[in-house]
Amino acid sequence: MDSIVCHDDKMHQVAKLLVENRSNEDWGEIANYRGAECPREIANEFLLCCLIDYRSKAKDAWNRGRHYFERLDAEHKSELWKKIADTSREDWTSKENFDRCKLHWMRPAHNRLWQIAINICAFFEGDARKIWQDGSLFDVLCRLYYIGAGDQISRMIVGALKDCGQISSGRSDVKADVHVCRVLSRVFDGKEISPAAAVSMARKMYPADPWYLDSPLWELGQTRCNSESPKCVGCYLQSQCKYAQEHSLRG
Ligand code: SF4
Repeated sequence: MDSIVCHDDKMHQVAKLLVENRSNEDWGEIANYRGAECPREIANEFLLCCLIDYRSKAKDAWNRGRHYFERLDAEHKSELWKKIADTSREDWTSKENFDRCKLHWMRPAHNRLWQIAINICAFFEGDARKIWQDGSLFDVLCRLYYIGAGDQISRMIVGALKDCGQISSGRSDVKADVHVCRVLSRVFDGKEISPAAAVSMARKMYPADPWYLDSPLWELGQTRCNSESPKCVGCYLQSQCKYAQEHSLRG
Protein backbone atom coordinates (compact mmCIF):
# COMPACT_ATOMS: atom_id res chain seq x y z
CA MET A 1 0.00 0.00 0.00
CA ASP A 2 1.43 3.39 -0.92
CA SER A 3 2.02 5.76 1.91
CA ILE A 4 0.54 9.18 1.28
CA VAL A 5 1.66 12.04 3.45
CA CYS A 6 -0.86 14.84 3.55
CA HIS A 7 -3.17 16.62 5.93
CA ASP A 8 -6.92 16.39 6.08
CA ASP A 9 -7.32 20.15 5.62
CA LYS A 10 -5.33 20.11 2.43
CA MET A 11 -7.28 17.11 1.19
CA HIS A 12 -10.56 18.88 1.76
CA GLN A 13 -9.29 22.10 0.21
CA VAL A 14 -8.16 20.26 -2.91
CA ALA A 15 -11.45 18.34 -3.06
CA LYS A 16 -13.38 21.61 -2.80
CA LEU A 17 -11.42 23.14 -5.71
CA LEU A 18 -11.92 20.03 -7.82
CA VAL A 19 -15.67 19.91 -7.22
CA GLU A 20 -15.97 23.65 -7.98
CA ASN A 21 -14.27 23.05 -11.31
CA ARG A 22 -16.26 19.96 -12.21
CA SER A 23 -18.04 20.03 -15.55
CA ASN A 24 -20.56 17.52 -16.85
CA GLU A 25 -19.20 14.69 -18.94
CA ASP A 26 -20.76 13.64 -22.20
CA TRP A 27 -22.18 10.16 -21.68
CA GLY A 28 -24.20 10.23 -24.88
CA GLU A 29 -27.93 9.84 -25.37
CA ILE A 30 -28.51 7.97 -22.15
CA ALA A 31 -28.16 11.32 -20.38
CA ASN A 32 -31.49 12.35 -21.93
CA TYR A 33 -33.36 9.70 -19.90
CA ARG A 34 -32.66 10.93 -16.40
CA GLY A 35 -34.83 9.04 -13.92
CA ALA A 36 -36.49 6.98 -16.66
CA GLU A 37 -35.81 3.74 -18.44
CA CYS A 38 -33.82 4.35 -21.60
CA PRO A 39 -34.38 2.44 -24.85
CA ARG A 40 -32.49 -0.85 -25.07
CA GLU A 41 -30.28 0.21 -27.99
CA ILE A 42 -29.20 3.39 -26.20
CA ALA A 43 -28.22 1.35 -23.13
CA ASN A 44 -26.25 -0.99 -25.39
CA GLU A 45 -24.34 1.81 -27.09
CA PHE A 46 -23.55 3.42 -23.73
CA LEU A 47 -22.25 0.16 -22.26
CA LEU A 48 -20.22 -0.70 -25.35
CA CYS A 49 -18.50 2.71 -25.36
CA CYS A 50 -17.75 2.44 -21.63
CA LEU A 51 -16.29 -1.06 -22.00
CA ILE A 52 -13.78 0.05 -24.62
CA ASP A 53 -12.86 3.25 -22.75
CA TYR A 54 -9.46 2.21 -21.46
CA ARG A 55 -5.82 2.41 -22.49
CA SER A 56 -6.78 5.03 -25.08
CA LYS A 57 -8.13 8.58 -25.14
CA ALA A 58 -11.73 8.57 -23.96
CA LYS A 59 -12.85 10.66 -26.92
CA ASP A 60 -11.28 8.18 -29.37
CA ALA A 61 -12.83 5.22 -27.58
CA TRP A 62 -16.30 6.76 -27.66
CA ASN A 63 -15.93 7.76 -31.30
CA ARG A 64 -14.92 4.20 -32.22
CA GLY A 65 -17.82 2.74 -30.22
CA ARG A 66 -20.33 5.11 -31.78
CA HIS A 67 -19.00 4.50 -35.26
CA TYR A 68 -19.29 0.71 -34.82
CA PHE A 69 -22.80 1.08 -33.46
CA GLU A 70 -23.96 3.39 -36.24
CA ARG A 71 -23.09 0.74 -38.82
CA LEU A 72 -25.42 -1.83 -37.23
CA ASP A 73 -29.00 -2.28 -38.37
CA ALA A 74 -31.84 -1.59 -35.93
CA GLU A 75 -32.19 -5.23 -34.87
CA HIS A 76 -28.52 -5.60 -34.07
CA LYS A 77 -28.48 -2.31 -32.17
CA SER A 78 -31.15 -3.75 -29.92
CA GLU A 79 -29.59 -7.25 -29.80
CA LEU A 80 -25.95 -6.16 -29.71
CA TRP A 81 -24.80 -8.65 -27.07
CA LYS A 82 -26.60 -11.54 -28.71
CA LYS A 83 -25.02 -10.60 -32.04
CA ILE A 84 -21.55 -10.74 -30.46
CA ALA A 85 -22.30 -13.87 -28.42
CA ASP A 86 -23.67 -15.67 -31.48
CA THR A 87 -20.33 -15.19 -33.19
CA SER A 88 -17.92 -18.00 -32.39
CA ARG A 89 -15.01 -17.04 -30.16
CA GLU A 90 -12.67 -17.91 -33.00
CA ASP A 91 -14.45 -15.58 -35.42
CA TRP A 92 -14.84 -12.73 -32.94
CA THR A 93 -11.15 -12.79 -32.00
CA SER A 94 -9.88 -13.22 -35.57
CA LYS A 95 -7.66 -10.49 -36.97
CA GLU A 96 -10.11 -9.97 -39.80
CA ASN A 97 -12.97 -9.23 -37.39
CA PHE A 98 -10.71 -7.08 -35.18
CA ASP A 99 -9.77 -4.98 -38.23
CA ARG A 100 -13.36 -4.77 -39.40
CA CYS A 101 -14.88 -3.75 -36.06
CA LYS A 102 -12.20 -1.13 -35.19
CA LEU A 103 -13.44 -1.07 -31.62
CA HIS A 104 -10.05 -0.80 -29.96
CA TRP A 105 -6.40 -0.62 -30.89
CA MET A 106 -5.60 -3.56 -28.55
CA ARG A 107 -6.65 -7.07 -29.48
CA PRO A 108 -7.35 -8.13 -25.84
CA ALA A 109 -9.70 -5.15 -25.40
CA HIS A 110 -11.63 -6.25 -28.46
CA ASN A 111 -11.49 -9.96 -27.58
CA ARG A 112 -12.87 -9.57 -24.08
CA LEU A 113 -16.15 -8.18 -25.42
CA TRP A 114 -17.06 -11.70 -26.53
CA GLN A 115 -17.05 -13.16 -23.00
CA ILE A 116 -18.80 -10.07 -21.64
CA ALA A 117 -21.50 -10.49 -24.29
CA ILE A 118 -21.90 -14.18 -23.35
CA ASN A 119 -22.32 -13.13 -19.71
CA ILE A 120 -24.83 -10.37 -20.48
CA CYS A 121 -26.89 -12.86 -22.49
CA ALA A 122 -26.64 -15.58 -19.84
CA PHE A 123 -27.42 -13.44 -16.79
CA PHE A 124 -29.25 -10.34 -18.07
CA GLU A 125 -31.21 -11.67 -21.05
CA GLY A 126 -28.97 -9.76 -23.41
CA ASP A 127 -30.39 -6.48 -22.11
CA ALA A 128 -27.79 -4.06 -20.69
CA ARG A 129 -30.47 -2.15 -18.78
CA LYS A 130 -31.06 -5.15 -16.54
CA ILE A 131 -27.54 -4.75 -15.16
CA TRP A 132 -28.51 -1.49 -13.47
CA GLN A 133 -32.24 -1.92 -12.93
CA ASP A 134 -33.55 -2.83 -9.49
CA GLY A 135 -30.31 -2.66 -7.61
CA SER A 136 -28.29 -0.46 -5.32
CA LEU A 137 -25.12 1.13 -6.59
CA PHE A 138 -23.16 -1.63 -4.90
CA ASP A 139 -25.32 -4.30 -6.56
CA VAL A 140 -24.66 -2.73 -9.95
CA LEU A 141 -20.93 -2.58 -9.27
CA CYS A 142 -20.93 -6.29 -8.36
CA ARG A 143 -22.90 -7.17 -11.49
CA LEU A 144 -20.41 -5.29 -13.67
CA TYR A 145 -17.46 -7.08 -12.05
CA TYR A 146 -19.34 -10.31 -12.55
CA ILE A 147 -19.80 -9.87 -16.30
CA GLY A 148 -16.08 -9.05 -16.59
CA ALA A 149 -16.13 -5.26 -17.06
CA GLY A 150 -13.06 -4.90 -14.84
CA ASP A 151 -12.35 -2.94 -11.71
CA GLN A 152 -11.82 0.62 -12.92
CA ILE A 153 -14.26 0.47 -15.84
CA SER A 154 -16.98 -0.82 -13.50
CA ARG A 155 -16.40 2.17 -11.21
CA MET A 156 -16.64 4.52 -14.15
CA ILE A 157 -19.87 2.92 -15.37
CA VAL A 158 -21.67 3.22 -12.04
CA GLY A 159 -20.50 6.84 -11.76
CA ALA A 160 -21.74 7.57 -15.26
CA LEU A 161 -25.08 5.88 -14.54
CA LYS A 162 -25.44 8.07 -11.49
CA ASP A 163 -24.56 11.19 -13.51
CA CYS A 164 -27.26 10.19 -15.98
CA GLY A 165 -29.91 9.48 -13.35
CA GLN A 166 -30.11 5.74 -14.08
CA ILE A 167 -28.97 4.96 -10.53
CA SER A 168 -30.47 7.30 -8.01
CA SER A 169 -28.35 6.98 -4.91
CA GLY A 170 -25.14 5.77 -3.37
CA ARG A 171 -21.50 6.76 -3.49
CA SER A 172 -19.04 5.57 -6.08
CA ASP A 173 -15.31 5.67 -6.56
CA VAL A 174 -13.04 7.38 -9.05
CA LYS A 175 -11.85 5.45 -12.07
CA ALA A 176 -8.20 5.53 -11.07
CA ASP A 177 -6.55 5.66 -14.48
CA VAL A 178 -3.10 7.10 -15.23
CA HIS A 179 -4.36 10.69 -15.32
CA VAL A 180 -6.17 10.52 -12.00
CA CYS A 181 -3.20 8.81 -10.33
CA ARG A 182 -0.70 11.31 -11.77
CA VAL A 183 -2.58 14.41 -10.60
CA LEU A 184 -3.16 13.05 -7.10
CA SER A 185 0.45 11.98 -6.74
CA ARG A 186 1.77 15.39 -7.85
CA VAL A 187 -0.58 17.39 -5.69
CA PHE A 188 0.08 15.49 -2.49
CA ASP A 189 3.36 13.70 -2.50
CA GLY A 190 5.23 13.54 -5.75
CA LYS A 191 5.61 9.75 -5.58
CA GLU A 192 3.77 7.49 -7.96
CA ILE A 193 0.65 6.00 -6.46
CA SER A 194 -1.22 2.84 -7.39
CA PRO A 195 -4.86 2.84 -8.57
CA ALA A 196 -5.87 1.29 -5.23
CA ALA A 197 -4.15 4.11 -3.32
CA ALA A 198 -5.78 6.72 -5.56
CA VAL A 199 -9.23 5.23 -4.91
CA SER A 200 -8.59 5.23 -1.19
CA MET A 201 -7.27 8.80 -1.25
CA ALA A 202 -10.31 10.07 -3.16
CA ARG A 203 -12.54 8.43 -0.54
CA LYS A 204 -10.80 10.41 2.19
CA MET A 205 -10.84 13.63 0.21
CA TYR A 206 -14.55 13.63 -0.57
CA PRO A 207 -16.33 11.01 1.50
CA ALA A 208 -19.76 12.26 0.44
CA ASP A 209 -19.14 10.88 -3.05
CA PRO A 210 -15.60 10.35 -4.38
CA TRP A 211 -16.97 10.03 -7.91
CA TYR A 212 -17.37 13.82 -7.95
CA LEU A 213 -13.58 14.09 -8.10
CA ASP A 214 -13.22 11.80 -11.09
CA SER A 215 -13.91 14.09 -14.03
CA PRO A 216 -11.99 17.16 -12.74
CA LEU A 217 -8.95 14.98 -11.93
CA TRP A 218 -9.14 13.26 -15.29
CA GLU A 219 -9.61 16.56 -17.11
CA LEU A 220 -6.55 18.09 -15.41
CA GLY A 221 -4.46 15.01 -16.21
CA GLN A 222 -5.55 15.11 -19.85
CA THR A 223 -4.86 18.79 -20.32
CA ARG A 224 -2.61 20.79 -17.95
CA CYS A 225 -1.10 18.08 -15.81
CA ASN A 226 0.36 15.99 -18.59
CA SER A 227 3.08 13.45 -17.96
CA GLU A 228 5.94 15.36 -19.62
CA SER A 229 5.49 19.02 -18.90
CA PRO A 230 2.71 20.13 -16.53
CA LYS A 231 1.47 23.66 -17.05
CA CYS A 232 1.21 24.79 -13.46
CA VAL A 233 0.79 28.52 -14.00
CA GLY A 234 -2.94 29.18 -14.03
CA CYS A 235 -3.85 25.71 -12.70
CA TYR A 236 -6.53 26.07 -10.04
CA LEU A 237 -4.67 23.56 -7.84
CA GLN A 238 -1.37 25.46 -8.02
CA SER A 239 -1.59 26.95 -4.53
CA GLN A 240 -2.14 23.49 -3.03
CA CYS A 241 0.15 21.44 -5.24
CA LYS A 242 3.36 20.00 -3.87
CA TYR A 243 4.82 19.48 -7.32
CA ALA A 244 4.20 23.12 -8.29
CA GLN A 245 5.80 24.29 -5.06
CA GLU A 246 8.88 22.16 -5.53
CA HIS A 247 9.48 22.85 -9.20
CA SER A 248 9.92 26.03 -11.10
CA LEU A 249 6.46 27.09 -12.24
CA ARG A 250 5.76 26.58 -15.90
CA GLY A 251 3.12 28.23 -17.99
S1 SF4 B 1 -0.22 22.67 -10.32
FE1 SF4 B 1 0.89 21.62 -11.96
S2 SF4 B 1 1.50 19.63 -11.14
FE2 SF4 B 1 -0.06 20.50 -9.81
S3 SF4 B 1 -2.00 19.64 -10.55
FE3 SF4 B 1 -1.75 21.61 -11.56
S4 SF4 B 1 -0.69 21.16 -13.49
FE4 SF4 B 1 -0.47 19.36 -12.16
